[in-house]
Amino acid sequence: MSASPPPLIEARDLAASYGRVQALKPTSLSVAEGELVTVLGPNGAGKSTMLRAMMRLTSASGRVLFRGRDITGLSTHDRAKEGIILVMEGRGLFSQMTVRENLVLGAYTLTGDETVDGRLDGVFRLFPRLKERYEQVAGSLSGGEQQMLAVGRAIMAKPKLLMLDEPSLGLAPRVASEILETLGELNRQGLGILLVEQKAPQALRLAQRVYVLSLGGIVAELPASEIKSHHDLSRYYLH
Ligand code: ATP
Repeated sequence: MSASPPPLIEARDLAASYGRVQALKPTSLSVAEGELVTVLGPNGAGKSTMLRAMMRLTSASGRVLFRGRDITGLSTHDRAKEGIILVMEGRGLFSQMTVRENLVLGAYTLTGDETVDGRLDGVFRLFPRLKERYEQVAGSLSGGEQQMLAVGRAIMAKPKLLMLDEPSLGLAPRVASEILETLGELNRQGLGILLVEQKAPQALRLAQRVYVLSLGGIVAELPASEIKSHHDLSRYYLH
């Protein structure tokens, strides 16, 4: 019998503090190869801190394993080079640069006979709107288009794990839905995704598994399809 493959990513007892405030209590979670996992939780629950700790954008205790390899000692840059890409809340775009320039910046993992244009074509297939806008400066785009650009730039790096911090925040429901559907499409193509949202019925429809974070700790972990049978969770997260 062959052993089951290690998770795509696994955080073991990851914990982080800001001064004396422990924003993330020792937390363990994982995303399997090809899995879409969503982490839900209210404002201030520690969701962003958890993503930042996984990326080493904030100092943290605990360990992070990627495909079974301990990457706790790797810098943020080296984690990104491994294919772990985070789309941050607030998007982190260069607002004075064009759509094309922002996208090209994402292509830093290009190897072998791959071309930037090849990767751009892939992004434009996912978000045709970006092709229409590609000589426009990022700062002049609508909020939804900026979020598409942030996801598109992450895709330019050809991630093995895509992590997103509240990609639907502040967007009109239709645009948020379009972006989340695209994440579902990427997951169907085999991409592992860790999607953080405050409250997102649609994220739950796309996800295979869900963690609920509250006051800096995981309070529930379950298959996304089972959330309906948990009265308190479904009342809060499905409406
Ligand atoms: P949100 O949905 O508002 O983004 P979140 O679940 O992502 O919330 P975090 O941003 O991780 O939560 O914050 C967790 C806790 O840590 C909160 O109490 C917050 O006030 C605190 N915190 C976050 N960033 C800092 C910081 N740079 N300095 C001090 N405290 C911080």
